[in-house]
Amino acid sequence: MEKTCADEFPLTVDSSEKQGVVCIFGTGDFGKSLGLKMLQCGYSVVFGSRNPQVSSLLPRGAEVLCYSEAASRSDVIVLAVHREHYDFLAELADSLKGRVLIDVSNNQKMNQYPESNAEYLAQLVPGAHVVKAFNTISAWALQSGTLDASRQVFVCGNDSKAKDRVMDIARTLGLTPLDQGSLVAAKEIENYPLQLFPMWRFPFYLSSGLCVFFFVYCAIREVIYPYVTGKTDSTYRLVVSIPNRVFPITALTLLALVYLPGILAAILQLYRGTKYRRFPNWLDHWMLCRKQLGLVALGFAFLHAIYTLVIPIRYYVRWRLRNATITQALTNKDSPFSSSTAWLSDSYLALGILGFFLFLLLGITSLPSVSNMVNWREFRFVQSKLGYLTLVLCTAHTLVYGGKRFLSPSILIWSLPSAYILALIIPCTVLVMKFILIMPCIDKTLTRIRQGWERKSKYAQSTLNGKSDI
Ligand code: NAP
Repeated sequence: MEKTCADEFPLTVDSSEKQGVVCIFGTGDFGKSLGLKMLQCGYSVVFGSRNPQVSSLLPRGAEVLCYSEAASRSDVIVLAVHREHYDFLAELADSLKGRVLIDVSNNQKMNQYPESNAEYLAQLVPGAHVVKAFNTISAWALQSGTLDASRQVFVCGNDSKAKDRVMDIARTLGLTPLDQGSLVAAKEIENYPLQLFPMWRFPFYLSSGLCVFFFVYCAIREVIYPYVTGKTDSTYRLVVSIPNRVFPITALTLLALVYLPGILAAILQLYRGTKYRRFPNWLDHWMLCRKQLGLVALGFAFLHAIYTLVIPIRYYVRWRLRNATITQALTNKDSPFSSSTAWLSDSYLALGILGFFLFLLLGITSLPSVSNMVNWREFRFVQSKLGYLTLVLCTAHTLVYGGKRFLSPSILIWSLPSAYILALIIPCTVLVMKFILIMPCIDKTLTRIRQGWERKSKYAQSTLNGKSDI
């Protein structure tokens, strides 16, 4: 009998309560880490390995045997081996009959194989109860104990008793098992760790596109135009002035785009006269990304706030102020105080500060730790009512910034209006549409639709005709 008692692994095991024996096939990174965690939680661990004699650095207290002997020691076997090496299991099919076989494997690419690894395993070892689990937990997290962000263990399998056993093990390890149904769900579970910020992709591409567009737009108006018409070098504007236009414009546009899908959905429901029809996929996806869109918008608003704070220390601004003062002193003329300009300037600042404050509040309440503390009505109040108030304040901030400039001929350069005018298009459209939707006659119909009423309901029709099924 090939048998090695591994005692080289430096970590100690603290187990007061015995939980039973678990077998782990494979003494690689994941097998070792899971084995250590299991030992710490009171399980006896037997490793199955191609070569038990040379397996090293295993947790103290674990046994290492050849695959067939290890399999005979436990009803539960964790397969910590890559799918490409599953072939050896076909030979063990008889000894694995009736055992719970846990597939922890992941792939290199999404949908790499026609069937999931777990389903492939079930075909290789038809007599075993294959359960997919633990693939979303990393070896590093198991070893270092930093499982806070990934405590969830998705579990699926066709045998409910086998699934229950695996979920019990997960709970004993301090993890949170989530039953995902039959083995068909394995494909999705295997794709899950390969996803890269799926909900952030649309906000990221959209905000990058907006930034690039507005940057080029502003550069044409503020750098290229002065150079072409007067040979003036304004390239320094590319560093602070133009970004400080692009960031607020992007933030405001994104904030408006957070509320636009809700309005489109309402219009669609009004048009269809029912809420029981699916929205188009693009609208569904857009609605799901609203939180991420809002957070990206908040990031840009932050950048705008920081860029605005450095304005007084900019060389160009100090030079302009100094020159204006010297010119006034030399010509002995001072510019008269304009009450309307003071009003506009103070209102602009106040609206910006209040808008930013509410924006921050929205961002904070979207954090899971905060949103879990409020009920559904409170969350809706903050995200919808305060959200719209934020949009109103930020739009007003931009409108007041425009102020007297709207009437100035310099608003058009090469027939291109100022960028902040473009920035107002989507927010103003959203606010006007929202205003129309909250008018009592429309709001009443929309509320009824959202409570389940249908304009062309066959049930309503039959009730009207006195043919109610009830
Ligand atoms: P690894 O370090 O490469 O270990 C794989 C083990 O498989 C080897 O140590 C070997 O153990 C065994 N094996 C059996 N037949 C083999 C063969 N023909 N060639 C090579 N090795 C063979 O991989 P791992 O990182 O532990 O991952 C193991 C499984 O866990 C994979 O399916 C992976 O997708 C999954 N997983 C890993 C992580 C992670 O963070 N690493 C997280 C989740 C899931 P013996 O030498 O003892 O036979």
